[in-house]
Amino acid sequence: MFVTEPGSSPVLRLGAASFGYSDQVVVSHVDLSVDPGDVVALLGPNGSGKSTLVRGVLGLADHLGGDVEMFGVPRDRFTDHTRIGYVPQRHSLSASVRATAEEVVAVGRLPHRPWWRPASATDASIVREALATVGLADRARTDVATLSGGQQRRVLIARALAAQPDVLVMDEPTAGVDLASQHVLADVLHRLAARGTTMLIVTHELEALELIVNRIVCLRDGVIDFDGTPAAYAAHELAHEAGRHHHVHVTAPTRGDGRGPLRSPQVVRGRTGGDHA
Ligand code: ADP
Ligand code: MG
Repeated sequence: MFVTEPGSSPVLRLGAASFGYSDQVVVSHVDLSVDPGDVVALLGPNGSGKSTLVRGVLGLADHLGGDVEMFGVPRDRFTDHTRIGYVPQRHSLSASVRATAEEVVAVGRLPHRPWWRPASATDASIVREALATVGLADRARTDVATLSGGQQRRVLIARALAAQPDVLVMDEPTAGVDLASQHVLADVLHRLAARGTTMLIVTHELEALELIVNRIVCLRDGVIDFDGTPAAYAAHELAHEAGRHHHVHVTAPTRGDGRGPLRSPQVVRGRTGGDHA
């Protein structure tokens, strides 16, 4: 289910992990741990290796060194793939797909039952709930080919949710969709975070997500350049920007559960004093 008991093993643990294609290393020596309930934003310029990193974790790019563990199990012995939901980058549904939103989302239930057993009432209600979560309850019977790009991305997120994964990995879920859909998607991610869903989100639109993430990881040229809280990230960015001539003070109100800021860090420029971030 969506909420994993606290105190269980990390959802994901990478130790000096490298990934790439054939023998070409794209991402190297990554140390990263994602705990149950974490909402991690993975940032970085185009070509820095974000997709390769998440695809490597999922076994879709080559694992070229170091350790990868999923739920405490080394990746090469990990078989419980239904625990990981994945929404790939720039993926929408082909215009030639003739299926209703409900039918596409129902595909997410397939790994949960033997091929010969028909969908149960439980499967049907999980599918309806997944569509409701992404705000498409009223489009269940709509042909997906007639939906907008943003709505199609939401159908794909619903499909991943219907599999009831313990972690949701999304590669640029808000990229390339219209502004209205971006806001709806941000709301969807908000709702998932509020119920404790562990997420690893590759994104360029940090602004839309900064209220929900509790960790930010930055990749640059295939190596991790920053890993910390949103408040520490704001300080890190400002330190780069401000250089030696400005004194910068950063504070971030927390939401009291130790999981990071409730809203975006308050940045006050030109103040002197210590760095409390
Ligand atoms: P990002 O997602 O941060 O934009 P990518 O992981 O897509 O970065 O790409 C990182 C590097 O890996 C780029 O130099 C890209 O050309 C290379 N790359 C991506 N996909 C492949 C592939 N299938 N085969 C070989 N090289 C690839
Ligand atoms: Mg990418």
